[in-house]
Amino acid sequence: MNKYLEDLVKLSKYDIAISMFEPKIENEKAKLSTFVEVAESIKSQINDTYAQIDDVKSKRTKNNIHLAELKTKLEDISRKNNEVSNEKELKALQLEEEIAKEQVSFANEEIIRLDEIAVAKEEELKELQGKLTEEEESIKEIQISVDNAIEEINQERNNVSQERGQLLEKFDKKILTFYEKIRRWAKDTAVVPVKDQACYGCFMKINDKTYSEVIKSEEIINCPHCGRILYKEEETEEA
Ligand SMILES: [Zn+2]
Repeated sequence: MNKYLEDLVKLSKYDIAISMFEPKIENEKAKLSTFVEVAESIKSQINDTYAQIDDVKSKRTKNNIHLAELKTKLEDISRKNNEVSNEKELKALQLEEEIAKEQVSFANEEIIRLDEIAVAKEEELKELQGKLTEEEESIKEIQISVDNAIEEINQERNNVSQERGQLLEKFDKKILTFYEKIRRWAKDTAVVPVKDQACYGCFMKINDKTYSEVIKSEEIINCPHCGRILYKEEETEEA
């Protein structure tokens, strides 16, 4: 194979590898972020539950205050009972007492209902806290494996970058400029193999003359359709 073409194929393979590292790292980070999202959602559920428990407790306090007021009122009524002078006053007092007693029983029922809700919410809270602990343990484990994977990827990236740098030291400047120009629009497909007599950048069939030149690999050949640099894959060459 033409020396320049060989260098181009190598350079392009390094560049493709380098482009792949960032998505690989993102992919590793994404593994973690799904677990973090679940943990965040559990935390917000826990906060909601705390708020609901506070609300229930404050309602219970209000009912207790109301009960104390009603107790005072009933004592008041009972005192007044001894002081009534006529039937009309007595009836009014009895009605007042009846209403106050009804309110007492309603407040007591309400307290029972609120206590039941509080118990259920506390149970819910315990469950959520258990789930959060589990999730946080998973996050710790995954964090370690993700960190290791990212470190490995970075190591690999450094190796490839170093090899690329070494290749560039002896690279022909004109050929490099030529490559960079194609790369500007073709990105990682600036140098592509020919398979089944088709360019693997634009997937168009190339003519017999160009194809035979690509097979000979004596010169740098561009795809007549898209302009990418073509090469015959070595496996096929050996075959
Ligand atoms: Zn092409």
